[in-house]
Amino acid sequence: MAPMAITPPSEAQVDKTSDLTLSGITTALQKTAPTHLDAATLTPSITQPQKPVLAQPPPQPLPDLNASLLQETHATPSQLRPVPALTDPLRATQRLATDHMIQAHWSLSTGWTAPTLTPYGPLALMPSASCLHYATECFEGMKLYRGHDGALRLFRPALNCNRMLMSATRIALPAFPPAQLLALIVKLCETDGPRWLPKHNPGQFLYIRPTMIATDPAIGVQRPTEAMLFIILTVLPQMDAVPGGVKLLASNDDMCRAWPGGFGYAKVGANYGPSLVAQGEARARGYDQILWLFGDDGVVTEAGASNFFVVWREKGTGVLQLVTAGLGERIVLDGVTRRSVLELARGRLAKGTTAGEVEGLEVVERRFTMDEIRVAAEEGRLVEAFASGTAWFVAPISKIHYKGEDVEIPMAGGDMGVYTGLLKGWLKGIMWGEEAERENPWGVVVNEQ
Ligand SMILES: *Cc1c(COP(=O)(O)O)cnc(C)c1O
Repeated sequence: MAPMAITPPSEAQVDKTSDLTLSGITTALQKTAPTHLDAATLTPSITQPQKPVLAQPPPQPLPDLNASLLQETHATPSQLRPVPALTDPLRATQRLATDHMIQAHWSLSTGWTAPTLTPYGPLALMPSASCLHYATECFEGMKLYRGHDGALRLFRPALNCNRMLMSATRIALPAFPPAQLLALIVKLCETDGPRWLPKHNPGQFLYIRPTMIATDPAIGVQRPTEAMLFIILTVLPQMDAVPGGVKLLASNDDMCRAWPGGFGYAKVGANYGPSLVAQGEARARGYDQILWLFGDDGVVTEAGASNFFVVWREKGTGVLQLVTAGLGERIVLDGVTRRSVLELARGRLAKGTTAGEVEGLEVVERRFTMDEIRVAAEEGRLVEAFASGTAWFVAPISKIHYKGEDVEIPMAGGDMGVYTGLLKGWLKGIMWGEEAERENPWGVVVNEQ
């Protein structure tokens, strides 16, 4: 089987009586997808290959999600939507999807149906559908890039598919082979990519939204027995070019996004709706996003729905460091961009590597607080900060409002910090197939017929 989402649990974690979430997920997988039992782990890592644990061959496996069974019904020429010009304000509305979508249905008794590709349109759901009442929903966010070399690319898409499996099983939705989800995503990109991302407009992208929802038409609060997977492609404006940098409002004690024992590490809809009051308030006060702090100490977790990085000189030692929150407490999402930033920094910016003219730095994943940032700024040790995520990409941060004061973040490179600029440039090169990075394995080329 392909490498799976998540690290297998230790012996201690497999003690079913002591770990409610793990034992719940294990029971669910026994019923919904016994072949995936070995994915029934909780650690929010998205790259570690799994080793088989708990596997019991199912008596009669139900049909799994299988991309090769895809049934295609293409839009007729009159159903095709006009692709708006790059200057069309419609593009900024975030309401525009491409011509097709993919769906697959699951039920506890019959497993996965053959997936379908059909013209984009409304879903059929009963008003009693579980997802509408109990937030039994999870999703992914990825991009399809039209490169400067003319190729269409995805960026490390297997990581998103692994993470989707982890998120789905966390909320009692059925398991599926991540490689099959990836094959469906690629199919939709092959179908709509060429027309919506024409070769003569390199540097554009589409946003990919794979989603899974529980569809049981039953009001009872219980583990879903029916679900639907769907994939759509939408038009999203570029969001990383906030003039003057992103301004963050640090969250107050009255609100937190995620907590130990919760589900902040999973991309489940339940994490986002409740955060929008704070986000709206931040906008109303002239800030772009919330910087989510946790606990009495003001531990820094994430910025909006992006991971957060700071570059500073460590207090005492003066060592230059790139710091981000660790994943251990499970209150931070294991972002694909975060992971890529860390890997690039370790490979190309760490002391002893040849980063060119810039000073090498130490890459650190640890618990740190807003007070540490404030003091670093006061003492002139703060170098730069940025947010990372698929939607916002790598966005420089210029200011954080915390306890009545603005902490100003330097941007030595003018519109962003020097390290922010380097990391962003390398990632861009991979995503958009620029000269030096054209053959980088993180950029997965989508073939066009
Ligand atoms: C999606 C998301 C991110 C960014 O993850 P990427 O894989 O880099 O797009 C970060 N934090 C939260 C809360 C998210 O939902």
